[in-house]
Amino acid sequence: MAFWTLHCVSCQATYQPEEVHYTCPRCGPLLGTLEVVYDLETVASHFDRQQLRLDARANHWRYLPLLPIEKPEFISPLAVGWTPLYRQEALAREWGLADLWVKDDGRNPTASLKDRASSVGLVKALEQGATTVTAASTGNAASSWAAFTALAGLRTVIFVPRNAPRAKIAQLLLYGAEVLQVEGNYDQAFDLCMQAARQWHWYNRSTAINPYLGEGKKTAALEICEQLNWEVPDVVFVSVGDGCIIQGLWKGFRDLFQLGFIERLPQLVGVQAEGAAPLVQAWREGKDQCRPLEPHTLADSIAVGIPRDQVKALRAVRESGGRFMAVSDQEILDAIALLARKAGVLAEPAGATALAGLKRLVEEKQLTKDVRAVVLVTGHGLKDIDGVLKAATATPRTVEPSLEAVARTLKLD
Ligand SMILES: [Zn+2]
Repeated sequence: MAFWTLHCVSCQATYQPEEVHYTCPRCGPLLGTLEVVYDLETVASHFDRQQLRLDARANHWRYLPLLPIEKPEFISPLAVGWTPLYRQEALAREWGLADLWVKDDGRNPTASLKDRASSVGLVKALEQGATTVTAASTGNAASSWAAFTALAGLRTVIFVPRNAPRAKIAQLLLYGAEVLQVEGNYDQAFDLCMQAARQWHWYNRSTAINPYLGEGKKTAALEICEQLNWEVPDVVFVSVGDGCIIQGLWKGFRDLFQLGFIERLPQLVGVQAEGAAPLVQAWREGKDQCRPLEPHTLADSIAVGIPRDQVKALRAVRESGGRFMAVSDQEILDAIALLARKAGVLAEPAGATALAGLKRLVEEKQLTKDVRAVVLVTGHGLKDIDGVLKAATATPRTVEPSLEAVARTLKLD
């Protein structure tokens, strides 16, 4: 008997896990996203802060009692999570913040936060006896999924948009996925994948429609709290495309709050790219749903015109008292360079978008003084080398192989 149920975020219907695998049949895939709700008494009976202190696992399975897993024997050997949380004292001083931390989720096995979700999704797929699995993705979720599923011997069919960066395609091919590059954008790839999964009964890891993915993503919030010794930050900045990560973070903070691990909740700031900001628009207009748009941004991971987790994402930001905001592609490029130089963290464009949001709020004096902020970097810069190179202001200089040439070029005596 599972220790959780699935709740529809729109009509509040409750389902047992075996009754439904994806979204609420009454409300449909966009509005009927399901939330995993635990029997917290059961969880609390074998999970507390003291037990975590004694847990030597440096990965996100240290939070297994708070994850929807029935057969832990299906857990992949790939080490996910427990990524570093770096304190940025110089930047915090410069910006008038009490504290600033950067959490580098590019340090996961396939170099993005998506591994947190794929690792949970794999267990759910195997629990259901899946033999073929699929996903549509801007690139990171798919390349992550392929690593886990191919290793587990599952046939893996992936739908990516035309503009997916080459490094992500390389990952997919080498992990052993069958890659279908859709003549269209991410939103079209998503819809095609949904149809194919229904037609051939493949297990679908596409974001938002699968309620278990956000549970994996929430472990980033659990880690932030534990790594800060349960002192909750005031505000957490994260980039947003489909909205699954931000709602997952909020779920993580709420789960910990309800279990009594933390005494308050942080505000969440969701940062989108100006050319792909349907959630910002809906948030400003006080709407519960987004108007679809054609996305244009160099941050491919968040180039989303129809955010699939929009209901939960809007609710998460509103409940947290935070906000959505948008930054320009130039601000994203500036943030890539800043993160690399000040924090030593190389982020892909979407990964640096959160810092660009924080920088903007500092410049506009919109943050109260002495704020303690966390910036979540969601993907590594080597995922999109063409994208991050646009942030470089210098180019290599050619020299002859002689000391004189080095001296001349660097103007040394
Ligand atoms: Zn419903």
